[in-house]
Amino acid sequence: MPLLPESLPETIFKDDGTRLDGRKFNELRDLHIEVGVLKNADGSALVCHGKNRIIAGAYGPREVHPRHLAKSDTGILQISYRMATFSVGERKSPVPGRREKEISMVVGKAIEPVLFLEQYPNTTIDVFITVLTADGGTRCASVTAAACAIADMGIPMKDLVAGVAVGKIANRIILDVSDKEDKWEKGGATDMPVAVMVNQKQYSLLQLDGSITVEQFEEMLDLVFEGGKLVYEKQKEALRRKYSTEDVGR
Ligand code: ADP
Repeated sequence: MPLLPESLPETIFKDDGTRLDGRKFNELRDLHIEVGVLKNADGSALVCHGKNRIIAGAYGPREVHPRHLAKSDTGILQISYRMATFSVGERKSPVPGRREKEISMVVGKAIEPVLFLEQYPNTTIDVFITVLTADGGTRCASVTAAACAIADMGIPMKDLVAGVAVGKIANRIILDVSDKEDKWEKGGATDMPVAVMVNQKQYSLLQLDGSITVEQFEEMLDLVFEGGKLVYEKQKEALRRKYSTEDVGR
């Protein structure tokens, strides 16, 4: 194990134009998704996106606690995003920080548009997300995991939601920015995490950290939609695998 933190490389692209991990500008990191991984949850998913390892357990629709949060005309979606203490290099405090609260809220907003919450008044759908290993883009991988865990519960959904980020590093636009790439540019790379509803051809989340031109923004939107399609295919494959195999993890 290295005693000192890994130093950042001199360049972020190789001579042949590929990225440090060998990817082309429009390639995702390895992505593997399993659903039905938690015996005691109503729905669950494990997302391995690059070195990210993220698990989500979904419950409901069920009674709301505390009761004053219940809404008589609609159901609610409550997301809890947490990073395990061992998920990052330096031990993370187990106390939920501002970032975890923000990501919980953001993932909820990204998923809500595909649910028929109005059909479940006075109830809640709860999704608990734990980041076991973080490798950049955990909010996007959490959207992917939460959507799969809810789909695994078997409730109707308008669409799945695929999380993927696009970035600009050394003035080049790249899909699915890794932690190393994100930290490489002095002053911070431009990172745009997005949630894509592929069938609706809509975005339910778009955040932007950094500065870009309008042309670059349009290029990034096109690229991230293509990335969303790739994530969506993996989500569908995982759900199909589970439902075409009997007795998986339950
Ligand atoms: P995202 O994970 O969606 O990219 P951020 O941009 O906030 O969200 O975080 C980027 C990365 O920084 C994370 O994926 C993780 O690897 C790292 N990170 C986040 N929070 C911490 C923390 N408390 N301690 C150490 N590293 C962290």
